[in-house]
This record gives sequence, structure tokens and C-alpha cells, in this order.
Amino acid sequence: MYPWFQNLLATFQHRVNQQQLHHGLLLIAETGIGSDALINGIAQTLVCQTANNCGECKACKLFEASSHPDIKRVVSDKPSIGVDLIREVGEFVTSTSQLLGNKVVIIEDIERMTESASNSLLKTLEEPNNNTYLLLSTSSANSVLPTIKSRCEKINVSTPAASESLPWIKSQTNKAVTKEGLMAFSNRPLEYLESLNEGKLGFEDFHEKFNQLIDKKVHAFMLAESYKDNAAKVVAWAYMLLIQRYQTMLLGKGNHAESLASTEYDSMQRLAESIDACKQANLKISQAGINKSLLLQKVFNKIQMST
Ligand SMILES: [Zn+2]
Repeated sequence: MYPWFQNLLATFQHRVNQQQLHHGLLLIAETGIGSDALINGIAQTLVCQTANNCGECKACKLFEASSHPDIKRVVSDKPSIGVDLIREVGEFVTSTSQLLGNKVVIIEDIERMTESASNSLLKTLEEPNNNTYLLLSTSSANSVLPTIKSRCEKINVSTPAASESLPWIKSQTNKAVTKEGLMAFSNRPLEYLESLNEGKLGFEDFHEKFNQLIDKKVHAFMLAESYKDNAAKVVAWAYMLLIQRYQTMLLGKGNHAESLASTEYDSMQRLAESIDACKQANLKISQAGINKSLLLQKVFNKIQMST
């Protein structure tokens, strides 16, 4: 279990032991923080003979081999989750437990359910069966039927603090890991780690290019071309880096802000304009047919001129 979920899992284990777990749990969590591991941990707790994921009992062994007969995992190979899959859930919950313990249904990303699938799941949630638990998750709670949400206990899983996730990320890679890099991935440790390990679009690389842009060692046009396929992310990162520069400038003045020289007013004003250019670009970036290279070029030009 990821270190940032250990306490949360322990509270679930306590509730299972006290038989105080709601039959329908809806975990609301951002992607990239490992909520699937948390769901698995809760599922294992529900079937483990000692309810603490002992890893030793028959149920745990079956669970770890992904062959526990009383765990039903809904997996769709399509973008949506169709009603046929949810009907199978309906049959599963009314069947008898094979190991005479709890039965668990796991459905992740429930916002992908079609309307009829949602309605079918709603019926299952409305008629709870003894010793049967539905573990649901979504990263987009607004796309889930309100009636489903109201029949579940909603658990808002917060994004882990950097102090919890950074040591773990460092233990998983030999690449340089920074707090700034984690922030660039909205503090989502798994997403950040993936970018480091898979040599995908990396924040550190961009940060270096951003500094080169400011030092006028790279052309805005060249940079825009190389990042046009990741324009939205890169604009967000540029925004973050500009805000940091702005804050550093202000903090540098400490309590002497009243003595800002007019040149400092000017440079802060130009920075503010660059920040605004990022905001404007972000509004346009998802419009159909927009020329992303050109959009980035405008932002990068502005940044280059502002510093
Ligand atoms: Zn066990």
C-alpha cells in the first residue's frame, strides 16, 4: 500500500472489524494518486479472515492470485461500461458467497457507465444484500448520477501531501525528483513517477527549456513546435513557473515593498502580462481547430519579452 493511504486503509479495517462499513462506498479521487490500490486494499480487508490483509489466510492467498471467487471486478474493454456488465453484478450480489464470507464488487471509473448501466447499478444499490459490498470509484463525481451518489457513502480521497509522497517517489526511481516537479503534476505521485520513468513529457526538461527561453538561448518558435502536442500541460507549467517568479520577486522585497523602484514595477507588470497570456491561452487551447503551435509561440514570445 502506498504510504499516503496507510492511515486511511487502517480506518477502513477498523470499520470492517466493527461491522460498520456502508454497503456502497464511492471513492472520489483524482487520477494518478493510486486510488485503485486503496480500493484493492479495502476489498482484501473485506475478505481476509482476520480483516487486516494478513496475506497468510486462504482468502488473502486467493485474493493475491486474483482468483477469489467472491470478488467481482467489473472490467470493460470499451471506453464505456455497458449494462450487460452491470447485470452480471446484479446476479453476483444475489448469489451465495462461495467462501462463506463477504462478497465484494469493484467498479472503477463509474463515470464511464452508460445511462442504462447506471440505472441497473442503482437497483443493486437500492436492495443491499447481507455481507455484500460495492466499492466504486470516480475521478469525476459530477458525471455520476446523483441518485447513485446519494445511495453510497462518499469518501473524498485527498491528493497526498508532498511530504508523504516525495520520499516514496525517490525510492522508486534514480532520476532527480523535485517538489516542483511533483507540483507540475498537480501533486499526483504516480503520474509524476510515470513521466520520470517513461521519458515522457517531463517537467524538469521543460523547466530547463523555460529557463533557456528566458535567457534568450532558445527561440519561442522552436520551443512551441516541440511542445505543441502537449500544449495544455505546458501552458499550465509555464503559468506555475511565472507565478513562482512573481512570488519570489515580491518576497525578495520583504517589508520594503513601499520602496519598489519604477523598474521593478515595470518588470512585475510584464510578468503579470505573461501570466495573463497563459490564462488566455488556456481558455483557447481546447477549441477545435486551434493552431496549438501558434498559440504556444505567442505565450513564449510574451514570456521572453517579459524577462
Ligand atoms: Zn488474510
